[in-house]
Amino acid sequence: MRVRSVGGRRQPCRQDLTPVRHTEGNRVSRRYGRLAARLAVSSARAPADAAFRSHTSFSELKYAFECPYSFKLRFLYGFNPPIAEALGYGKGLHDALFEMHDRVLQGEEIDGDCVPELVERHVYLPFAYRDLRETLSAAATRRLTAYIVERGATFADIEHAERPIEIDLGDGIRVTGRIDLIRRRSTNEVVVIDFKSNDRTQQEEVTDLQLRVYALGYEQATGERASEVVVDNLDDLSHPRRNGVTPEMLQQAETAVRSVGERLRGNAYARQPSGGDDAARDHTCRRCDLVGICGGHREFP
Ligand code: SF4
Repeated sequence: MRVRSVGGRRQPCRQDLTPVRHTEGNRVSRRYGRLAARLAVSSARAPADAAFRSHTSFSELKYAFECPYSFKLRFLYGFNPPIAEALGYGKGLHDALFEMHDRVLQGEEIDGDCVPELVERHVYLPFAYRDLRETLSAAATRRLTAYIVERGATFADIEHAERPIEIDLGDGIRVTGRIDLIRRRSTNEVVVIDFKSNDRTQQEEVTDLQLRVYALGYEQATGERASEVVVDNLDDLSHPRRNGVTPEMLQQAETAVRSVGERLRGNAYARQPSGGDDAARDHTCRRCDLVGICGGHREFP
């Protein structure tokens, strides 16, 4: 195995590992297991992480909340999830929604007639075979049409779509990202909305932390406090997850972001999947697309 020198230290690199990465379910080849073990050992010697010295994005932060080791494998070592045949579906839905909201902001009346053309232009599925492409395109059409039916009455409240925000906690801890949608009700209350568009469920504690971080980001970016943060799941519009914004919530968000920043900067990428007990943590690991490399926070039977 070749090793690469980083900061004067020699450690395995992604190119070394990728050719031998393969899994059968949760089992890892012996050769790959040895390399992954060496990678884990090398983490203890790696230089202090620069990720938070520059900045981290909201989407990356989610992985750090979910499991610091997952963050490390993805963003320091560059392991990507396997290419899925449905790759592009979620992004396509988000992009179509953004255009829809933007056109509302430009004063256009939006109804279901625009959906087929939005799907045609935005839902790009380069790895899907023909039947799957048709199935996913039909699903995207249904989701967007349902969204217009269910949420069209609130379109007049839209204030921003894809608004950039930044959390700067000082000491080099900075997080940037975008909020999918911001609505201002006639009562002048601000609602911050994040869209989910796939069934890759995550622990509720991670979703709630994300919501708190969005609320904090909105307040830092605008100087104004949002009233409510909402996760709107396009697969289930009848059950949006809502949280009222309180000072305690914003404090929890700040504490969580600072804690992640300090742990990562201290090179502390523990295998700590989210979850209140071992069963929940096992569940997080089983859904983790890097479990074949990592092996999980403990051995699975
Ligand atoms: S398998 Fe579990 S411990 Fe390993 S990176 Fe994923 S969530 Fe973390």
